[in-house]
Amino acid sequence: MFKFFVRLSLLLMFFASAFTVPGQVSAEKYISDYLNSIRDNRALLTAFFQQMPKGGDLHNHFSGSIYAESYFDYALKADFWVNLKTLTLYDKAPAPSADIKRFSEVKAAGGLDDLRYQLLRFWSIKDYFEGDEASDKHFFDAFDKFDLASKGLAQDGLLELKQRAKAENVQYIELMYRSAKHGLDLSDLKNYAFVLDSLQRQKNSTGLAVVLDTLYAKFIRKGVESKVQDYTQAIEKTHRELLLDDSTFTMRFQGYVTRVLEDQVALFGNLVASFLSAERSNLIVGVNIVAPEDNPNSMRNYWLHMHFFKWCKKQFPTVKFSMHAGELTLGLVKPEELNWHINAAVREAGAHRIGHGVDLAYENKVYDLLKLMQTQQVAVEINLTSNEYILKVKDDRHPITLYRSSKVPIVISTDDAGILRSNLTEQFVLLANRYKNISYAEIKQYILNSIKFSFIEEEKLKLKLTHNLQQQLAKFEQQLQLSLVKK
Ligand SMILES: [Zn+2]
Repeated sequence: MFKFFVRLSLLLMFFASAFTVPGQVSAEKYISDYLNSIRDNRALLTAFFQQMPKGGDLHNHFSGSIYAESYFDYALKADFWVNLKTLTLYDKAPAPSADIKRFSEVKAAGGLDDLRYQLLRFWSIKDYFEGDEASDKHFFDAFDKFDLASKGLAQDGLLELKQRAKAENVQYIELMYRSAKHGLDLSDLKNYAFVLDSLQRQKNSTGLAVVLDTLYAKFIRKGVESKVQDYTQAIEKTHRELLLDDSTFTMRFQGYVTRVLEDQVALFGNLVASFLSAERSNLIVGVNIVAPEDNPNSMRNYWLHMHFFKWCKKQFPTVKFSMHAGELTLGLVKPEELNWHINAAVREAGAHRIGHGVDLAYENKVYDLLKLMQTQQVAVEINLTSNEYILKVKDDRHPITLYRSSKVPIVISTDDAGILRSNLTEQFVLLANRYKNISYAEIKQYILNSIKFSFIEEEKLKLKLTHNLQQQLAKFEQQLQLSLVKK
């Protein structure tokens, strides 16, 4: 009998040690105290966040998330041509030039390692030195530079992103994968460009809505729906064939338009195509607007773009959208251009989430805006490495603390982990290290937010991912507590 009680008490002690430490500290409290004790040590923080389940990455661009090494391997395998002076790639034989060689020729001449190093720097921020060229230019130019290689990796690239996500305990990716295009001949609609421009100058939103109704009817007559069907089916086929979803990982897509486009009729056509595809597919869960916000076309037409989205929200009420807005800071544009972009994305366009939102502190009636984002639950996607590199905004210059103090929902994301040579773990390391007041409980909430504020359409799936994530977080806490107590 005595032996039985000894065994029983040993058993109880074992189970208790799995969940508590002497003094009955809960696993969550224990992990929270531990995190606070390592805030200044980025190696310890890295080990911590590498293991921690991080839920979803809601803001990431496909081609910017692939690492340059993969682009190089693809270009080598496809035996592209490369201009050794400009580093331009060609997938078909260009006009003969002494500067242009095939990858196989470079390899035969023993120059492959050197070329690889040059291309990695050309396509990403690897070994970037301040003063080489403007960091925002270096960043945004990279997309065109590796474009040919990224087209070749349209499928394998998705697997690379999935494998990386799983390896760092990320359960969901909402990827800006391919832009939807209207695919129509719009040459007979050229005059509408002047109409749109004139309505924008008058800030005539009522007149604009009528013109957009007309344009939409014309797009439908020209067959935009069948073009969209091709795009949607291609994405669904890829998703199915690559088995992107499994028991521990889910991938969904956002369509997007490029805001730097000169032709506003075409841009609206692309936006309609994006909304149509998102409306029709469970896998395309949202729409976005991308590319440099300080580009002259983006700046000139910002009001128009907000009203395009506003119109689409009315036409496609079930489609969610996130908008890159306020990816600006003092010095990048004129001060008077810093005070209305997030406001317009939230108030006019009705965005469900805001990407970056960095110019927040400069926005008109910022506290009213924050209150609105809080009450309407418009989440902000925070991209710390991206903001630091592109905008030079970090530490206490970053508005994350403003969003936090107003209880605006926050999610942590990567933006372009490949070009930036980063990952989601590193974003949490920066978060915990730079913003020491943000508690463990809040960080956990940001992680749970990444599913809660995702655009996943299937309610059952969303519930399942939330449930799994909660379980994984509890398990993470218990296991980490056990290993720390043992030390
Ligand atoms: Zn982005």
